[in-house]
Amino acid sequence: MLNRVYNFSSGPAVLPEAVLLKAQEEMLNYCGSGMSVMEMSHRSKVYEEIIYGTEKLFRELMNIPSNYKVLFLQGGASTQFAAIPLNIGNKSGLVDIIGTGMWTNRAEAEARKFCAVNVVATSKDKTFTYIPETKREDFSPNADYVHICWNNTIYGTKYTDIPDVGNVPLVADMSSCILSEKIDVSKFGIIFAGAQKNIGPAGLTVVIIRDDLIGLHRESTPTMLTYEIQAKNDSLYNTPPTYSIYICKLVLEWLKDLGGVEKIQEINERKAKAFYDFLDSSKLFKATVYGKDRSIMNIPFVTGDEELDKKFIAAATEAGFVNLKGHRSVGGMRASIYNAMPEQGVYELVEFMKKFENK
Ligand SMILES: *Cc1c(COP(=O)(O)O)cnc(C)c1O
Repeated sequence: MLNRVYNFSSGPAVLPEAVLLKAQEEMLNYCGSGMSVMEMSHRSKVYEEIIYGTEKLFRELMNIPSNYKVLFLQGGASTQFAAIPLNIGNKSGLVDIIGTGMWTNRAEAEARKFCAVNVVATSKDKTFTYIPETKREDFSPNADYVHICWNNTIYGTKYTDIPDVGNVPLVADMSSCILSEKIDVSKFGIIFAGAQKNIGPAGLTVVIIRDDLIGLHRESTPTMLTYEIQAKNDSLYNTPPTYSIYICKLVLEWLKDLGGVEKIQEINERKAKAFYDFLDSSKLFKATVYGKDRSIMNIPFVTGDEELDKKFIAAATEAGFVNLKGHRSVGGMRASIYNAMPEQGVYELVEFMKKFENK
């Protein structure tokens, strides 16, 4: 037996078992090359097939229009919080942002180093348990871009509609939801995501950027943060995170085999519904987010009693349901049920919670 647990970690997170097994199989000798992907030159023919193949799969699965570039970068989503203003915050120097918790706070703080930032709306008043409504008039018509976080990993909220920002480029942090549901890429200027939630190992950051937003960087932008240089060099200006990109390719192949984004969205919605339905019927556990803004990837919940929360987490860990502790800023519990979390894992966790409640 493999002795694998059900891992509800928010990130780095569970990967499909089939992907890990395939990586194991190819570890010592990738496709007859006689070496591991980790050991090969990023300029070799065999590696080029991996990186270009990964891009092709992204384009196919997300239906990315041809006027967008797909970049494979490093530094995590957090580095993009600085790279974005340095690259596209230089016309009016004004950035609009919708505040939905820690990840937009971090993006805001970083943007303030280079730009003026206007917080258009925030859900701070209710501890970020909802997505603020906005209308086109709320946004600055001359802003260089509008920043949002599509799925808030910590508070468990997600957008259901794309905010109407007029002609201003919309920039979305999709670190914890990329490829979890159908998204119309053409409505965004930039979509970016750290890989370690839904698409692969930490160390890889994916940036999907519309052509016209490339080349707008300020003179002083560090080379490695300059989209134009990364785009011109097909993300091979320096050594990219080669192994993380390879695992990402395996994850995308797994997703494609499964039936693509439409199929995984259906599965994700089923998993989330099962979990929320239980929480809404439970007398012990309560969700912290209500209504349409509930995330289908990250589900925070509480008992209302910290001691009992601790007991539950300990009992769950013992039973093989691990990493259910909530984010340190929220407390309670959180189940992250990304693409790679099997449906069975969610149903078994719900069963376990029912039993815990009855006891
Ligand atoms: C995890 C996460 C980040 C931070 O990602 P790093 O890769 O650690 O920099 C940013 N935004 C969201 C929405 C996240 O979930």
